[in-house]
Amino acid sequence: MFLVDGDIEGLGSPGGPRTDPATLLAVIVLARASRNALDGDTNDRCCAVNPLHGPATGRRHVRVSAQGNRRRMLSLCPLCLDAATAAPHELRERKLTLPGPAGTRVPYDEAEGIPLSALRDGINRLADKVRENAPAE
Ligand SMILES: [Zn+2]
Repeated sequence: MFLVDGDIEGLGSPGGPRTDPATLLAVIVLARASRNALDGDTNDRCCAVNPLHGPATGRRHVRVSAQGNRRRMLSLCPLCLDAATAAPHELRERKLTLPGPAGTRVPYDEAEGIPLSALRDGINRLADKVRENAPAE
């Protein structure tokens, strides 16, 4: 609700305020996590390749840049866990991107505005960041 200024209806108006892709992604991830928590599933991790894949079921060391050998431990959904084993080079290409400046695409966790990079530390961390950035009442 902080993300949409309490105006959930505003999300339905195309081009309206607070409908940028990063905000919508954060709203979806937080809404799903809340829904799962109500059902007793408190898994705090979603797929790091694409948060829309849903909850992570495991973690793997994955090469995160085209150059060099930089690796990072990522939480992954079942499909991406399989890919990490079968075709690890494809994971980087599967990463969700959002519209960036001047028609470019940027990895979702490097997008402007909403601190989606917090998802690396879990969905609760994203919720904390959103609360911290919420306008004071
Ligand atoms: Zn995935």
